[in-house]
Amino acid sequence: MEVEKLDIKNMYIVHIEDKKYLATKNLTPGITYYKERLFKTKYGELREWIPFKSKLSAAYLKNMDISVLNKAKRILYLGMSTGTTVSHISDIIEDRGVIFGVEVAPRVMLEYINRVAKYRDNIIPLFYDARVPQNYFYIVNGKVDMLYCDVAQPDQTEIAIRNAKLYLKEGGELFLAIKARSIDAARDPEEIYKIEIRKLEKNGFKVIESVNLEPYEKDHAMVRAKLR
Ligand code: SAM
Repeated sequence: MEVEKLDIKNMYIVHIEDKKYLATKNLTPGITYYKERLFKTKYGELREWIPFKSKLSAAYLKNMDISVLNKAKRILYLGMSTGTTVSHISDIIEDRGVIFGVEVAPRVMLEYINRVAKYRDNIIPLFYDARVPQNYFYIVNGKVDMLYCDVAQPDQTEIAIRNAKLYLKEGGELFLAIKARSIDAARDPEEIYKIEIRKLEKNGFKVIESVNLEPYEKDHAMVRAKLR
C-alpha cells in the first residue's frame, strides 16, 4: 500500500496494487458510516471517500477545486441526508470549524442522528426545510465560508440562491449539485445545467467552474460559484 498526501488537509489517495482510493483521515477511528473501507496507514486511519456515493468526492476526482475546505470555518450544508458527504467534510475541517447540516426528511434525520451525530461534534444538525432559510437564522447566527447544496429538488438552484443571499459571506463559495432529472427528465441534461448556471449569474454569482459528474453520477453536474 502506498499513500499520497493531497493538496487538501486530511485528504489522501491510497494506492493498493492497481487501484486508487480517495480517502479522508478518520476523525472517529474504528467507526464507519456507509460501508466505506478503512485503511491503517502511517498518517493514521484513513476512510475511503467513495465517489459513487458522494458528489463532492466525484467533483474532486473530476478536478474541481475544493481548496476552500482548507480554510473554511463555517459551512452550511443543505440536504445532509444520512451524512455520507458531511462526515468527510467533518474529517477535513476537524476542530477548526463547524458544519450546519440542514435536512427536512424526519426518517433520514433520525438515521443521521443514530449513525453519525453521536460521534461527531463539529456538525450541527438542523431539522428544517431549506426553502425557508430564515427559520434557522438564529442558529446559524452569521455568515458562512462555504454553502453546499444537494437537495435534488426541481427548485434546487432557487433554494441555493435564497440561502446564499442570507448566509454566504463575500468571497465565500457555493457548491451546487444539479440533478438534471429532478428538473426535467426528458430534456438534455447539458441544456439544464446551462439554464441553472444562467440563473446563478442573473442572481449576482460568478460561476467559476462546472463539472459533469459522470461516470460517478449520471445526469448530475457540480457548479462552483462566488457571490460577486
Ligand atoms: N448530500 C447528501 C450526501 O452526499 O450525503 C445526499 C443528499 S440527497 C441527494 C438529497 C437530500 O436532500 C435528501 O435527504 C432530502 O430529504 C433532502 N432535502 C430535499 N429537500 C429538502 C429541503 N427543502 N430542505 C432540506 N433538505 C431537503
